[in-house]
Order: sequence, then C-alpha cells, then structure tokens
Amino acid sequence: MTTAASWLEMADDDPFGIDNLPYCAFGQDRFRWTGVRIGDRILNLAAAEGRGLLDAGGAFLGQGNLNRFMSAGRPVWARVREHLTELLSAARHREAVEPLLLAVADVRLDLPFEVADYVDFYSSLEHATNLGRLFRPDAPEPLLPNWKHLPVGYHGRAGTVVVSGTDVPRPFGQRRTPDDPAPTYGPSTRLDVEAEVGFVVGVPSEGPIPIDDFRAHVFGAVLVNDWSARDLQAWEYQPLGPFLGKSFRTSISPWVVPLDALESARTPGPAQQPPVLPYLSAADHHGYEIDLEVLWNGTPVARPPFAGMYWTPAQQLAHMTVNGAWARTGDLYASGTVSGPTPEQTGSFIERTWNGARPIQLADGTTRTFLLDGDTVTITATAPGPSGSRIGFGEVTGTVTKPE
Ligand code: MN
Repeated sequence: MTTAASWLEMADDDPFGIDNLPYCAFGQDRFRWTGVRIGDRILNLAAAEGRGLLDAGGAFLGQGNLNRFMSAGRPVWARVREHLTELLSAARHREAVEPLLLAVADVRLDLPFEVADYVDFYSSLEHATNLGRLFRPDAPEPLLPNWKHLPVGYHGRAGTVVVSGTDVPRPFGQRRTPDDPAPTYGPSTRLDVEAEVGFVVGVPSEGPIPIDDFRAHVFGAVLVNDWSARDLQAWEYQPLGPFLGKSFRTSISPWVVPLDALESARTPGPAQQPPVLPYLSAADHHGYEIDLEVLWNGTPVARPPFAGMYWTPAQQLAHMTVNGAWARTGDLYASGTVSGPTPEQTGSFIERTWNGARPIQLADGTTRTFLLDGDTVTITATAPGPSGSRIGFGEVTGTVTKPE
C-alpha cells in the first residue's frame, strides 16, 4: 500500500498514522461501539457503516466488540481497510467523516473482542533457557528435550483477560520454597510480568489450520502482559504446567493492529535446528519485527525484541490445532515472554533481576526485584511501517493493588 497522508492533522511520525488503523471497542456511559484509530481520534465504525460510508456487511452495526467483523474473513478485512484508508486520506470525505471522530481521551476503551480461548506459548529461546536455569538449577540442560521440536504452550483462562488500565489485585495462593517444611497460603510475594505479543483468530476452523493458512485466519495482534506469581507457579507447575500463578489476570492492549499493517515488519523466521516436522514448515517462514519496551513506574527497564522469537505465530497456530482442535473467532494466543540475549532485553522481572539477585533502580531512586503494591507496569511497542513510518501498538498498562 502506498503511504497517503490523512487530512487529519498529526505529526508525520505519529504511530497511529494512515498506515496503521488499529481497531478497538470503545464506549461512553452504557453505550459500546467499535472503532478505528487515526492519530488521537477514533472513528465510530457503527456510525460510518450506518451512514453508508463503508460496507462491512453489517459487521459494525449494533456491535460492542470486533468479533463479528473478525469472523468476516480476509476479503472483508481488506475491503474495509481500503475504504477506511480512502475515507481518512481523501479530502473530499472530510466533511462526512469528521463529525464521526471522537477524541481517544474522551472515551472508555473496552476489551476489543470477546476472548474465546486463551493459549500462552513459550517461544523465546532466551526466556525458556533463563527460566530453565532459574526453576531447575540442578538440571544438566536448561531446555527440556521437546522445546526445539514443538512450540510449548498451555491453555490459560479466557475469562480473566482484561483490557489495559484494569487494576490487578495481588493474587493469593499456596507456595513452598525448598527450605519450607510445608506449604503456606498468602498473598504472592514474587509478583512478576511477562511482556508478550498476542495474535487473535478471526476466521474459525473445523480442525487443523495448515501453517500456510495463517493469514486467512488471523486478524491481528495485541500487546499482552501475562502477570505471573512466581512463588505460586514454582510450587504448582509440575507436572501439568502453569495454573493459578497465571490465571488471576492477563492484560491486553485496547488496539488490535491488523496483520495488514504489519507487512513492512515481516522478517525472516529464525533458522531452526533440528529441522521441524512438515506441519510446522511454512512456505514463507517469517516472524515480525516488533520492538517492545517495558516501563516500571515510568522507568524504562527493558526493550525486548520480538523479531528474535524462535517459533513464529504461524507455527503456533498450526501446532495448536494440529490435533484436530478447532479454532474459534476470538481465540487469543500469546507468544510467550519476549526476551532477547541481554538482561536489558528480557521481558520478565525474574530474568531482569535474576530471581531478585540483581535489583534494578527506578527513576525515583527506589529499587525493585518483584512488584510492590501500587506499582504500575506499562508495555509499549512499535513496528516498522511502509516508507519509514512506525506502526504503534499503544500500550498495555496495569497497577498492582493491595489485596482486600
Ligand atoms: Mn506467558
């Protein structure tokens, strides 16, 4: 797509320029609509479709989330994106469209889609290696034997996925350190984050999704914070994997960046040795260059690079349906913690502080290992757009609150 300018006034380097156009669900009072962001505004899509300015087959009419539009499929997504680009760039549409814009600051941003199932992967080689060393210090190898043969994942809890800005009450549970004679119960003392990128399924399937059909099914991407209580997790996770240490809340950004906005961010997938099985082998093996940043009470503490992930989103989707499980509209699958090779590139605090052994200093002079009550974590990201522009993901933010 060529880069057109919008008639809306904004900076040339605005991360919500005409090349991005992420979707959202938003509201005022008891009303909810779907929208698309341009600059610091949201175009009300129900109003736009209702007035005949664009045709999504009715997918925006009377809808408080994006599920119906996401289920419509790639030809409809492409047509609507073309309409929106035209409406927001050609000056002749300004008179009709401008009254349908609202300031982002004036609305409530809601969960953009109803989450069907939620799966979380574990696809950063560096993260899996770090966690292996921290959780199994006596094991000869940090990676388990399956790790390079399949994208390891687990089913999370869809019902506790919340939109950015929602508070996160400190979770309670059982924990037992190696020195404890017996488990104890109480609020987590090792509350952590995981900076991730999530992909959302638009078009459902009745069974396995072949790896090369990724783009026909996946609608777009969001930022994910997979809040994690490490003390609960360490005691409960064997042999069935994460459970209550993760399921209390998972936060996502309000903006769904369409895959079409990430075309310029495509990057060759990593070399994979040993070779993967045929169902995980894509004709076009690619990942995405998405640069994350993690802020702890406003202090930047890490810049995790999504481009380095070992398993790609297409491989994850193929794997999670290869057993015959179907995919549903609204299925959310997250990448796993994004961590690069250096401590400054790690997407969790257990890695960033090496299990608390290396506290980090925040801008106010205080130090941290794990999260304190009142702490706010914000994850932001951008990706390369066409012609040097940047595609913004906005942010996913949340504040830890003291348990009642
Ligand atoms: Mn995770």
